[in-house]
Amino acid sequence: MTTVRTRIAPSPTGDPHVGTAYIALFNLCFARQHGGQFILRIEDTDQARSTPESERAIFDALRWLGLHWDEGPDVGGPHGPYRQSERMAIYKDYALQLIEKGHAFYCFATPEELDQMRAEQQARGETPKYDGRGLLLSQEKVAQRLAAGEPYVIRMKIPPEGQCEINDLLRGKILIDWQQVDMQVLVKADGMPTYHLANVVDDHLMQITHVIRGEEWINSAPKHLLLYEYFGWQAPVLCHLPLLRNPDKSKLSKRKNPTSINYYRRMGYLPEALLNYLARMGWSMPNEAEKFTLDEMLQHFDLQNITLGGPVFDVEKLNWLNGCWIRENLDADAFAARVQQWALNPEYLKAMIPLIQTRIEHFSQLPALLSFFFSGAPAISKADFDALKMDDEQLRRVLQYSSWMLDAQRSWQRDDLYTALKGLADAMQLKIKNFLPPLFVALTGSTSAPPLFDSMALLGADLVRARLREALQIAGGVSKKEGKQWEKDYRALGLIER
Ligand code: GLU
Repeated sequence: MTTVRTRIAPSPTGDPHVGTAYIALFNLCFARQHGGQFILRIEDTDQARSTPESERAIFDALRWLGLHWDEGPDVGGPHGPYRQSERMAIYKDYALQLIEKGHAFYCFATPEELDQMRAEQQARGETPKYDGRGLLLSQEKVAQRLAAGEPYVIRMKIPPEGQCEINDLLRGKILIDWQQVDMQVLVKADGMPTYHLANVVDDHLMQITHVIRGEEWINSAPKHLLLYEYFGWQAPVLCHLPLLRNPDKSKLSKRKNPTSINYYRRMGYLPEALLNYLARMGWSMPNEAEKFTLDEMLQHFDLQNITLGGPVFDVEKLNWLNGCWIRENLDADAFAARVQQWALNPEYLKAMIPLIQTRIEHFSQLPALLSFFFSGAPAISKADFDALKMDDEQLRRVLQYSSWMLDAQRSWQRDDLYTALKGLADAMQLKIKNFLPPLFVALTGSTSAPPLFDSMALLGADLVRARLREALQIAGGVSKKEGKQWEKDYRALGLIER
């Protein structure tokens, strides 16, 4: 019998998402339950957006939650390397194999040409789609253009008619018309594989038997299954889990809910409780218990018991469950140790000292000065913003623009934060001393706090972003109409993402 092998394949392009942990948890449980292995593969073929920091953050966050993988970039294993950027030599050969077998083809169309093709299709009221023009080139023409060094992509052929049948472990049979499937690019003009090619090749080479992933990938499944068929490989069993949702049932998004695992870590949630909460997303214990450990889950796990209705990630419910864990599972020693680990550790305290050492005469002044480093959101009200005597719209724009800017900010070093926000203040034609007060209030609760940029660096991206969003609401929020206009105005400032 083949060993069950599951995997998660996150792309290291942002903060470690609770959705990644949720998918990882179910993959881990399924593998463990079958005595198999759980693999972590990093899908970093999008080199412009992937960063080593994000990769490290994913490892840290998953480990903090208690999720451990048997093979991966950091732990090694017999099927490595487990980072796609280190496997580049592999993919192109497979694409060429498909060309030889007549399942894929070269396409020399320029981006402008394809834009025009799509515009024409839209003008005719059709859904834009690659029209197969590359297939019309004769072999000699292709050879000539390759020899001339023209840029090209490699695309896969798609049957012109009929349906693809996907047998999903949870959803049963899903039929998708081939007409709806685009002739997917497999190798890009820069020679890089796309997600689809790299994902299928790696799942095969890493002997993955079950692909358990989010439902947003269902539409990719026909391309993947076809690739397995073209290569003559056995496709893994597919299982698409329901997406996590906001309480209003929309797809979980950081605009409505903090989605970074680090946010929950910094807010002082217990990893066991967060994991327990994620386990409850679509799955329940046979005895309907709300509170259980990973070990208990492993004993009772059954993938078939997952319900497909969109599970709601509700911070209120998480709070309740976390409270239960705090009350019922920590004796005084464990409690003290956990709080220490959380934020009363020497490292965190030491980082604060340079910000306040010259400002105090005795230690009992510390709590008032530093409380914002430990609290969730500072206790502020509209009156705190009114007291700044700033034009109301200007103030909300400062908060909104800063929030947009910092959502896209990569480096969280003090100097880079300064450069970014100083650039924003300049672009808004505001003196920095008039620009900063709303941020001081939003992030620290006061205008006479320790230096702002150092504090931001120390607070970290997750708390800063969440506080800015909350402060904007407290300051009066942004109407739909304003939001649209401001977004345009913000873009017109031409600030670069960094
Ligand atoms: N790299 C994809 C992601 O970021 C993996 C999707 C899959 O599991 O196939 O989620």
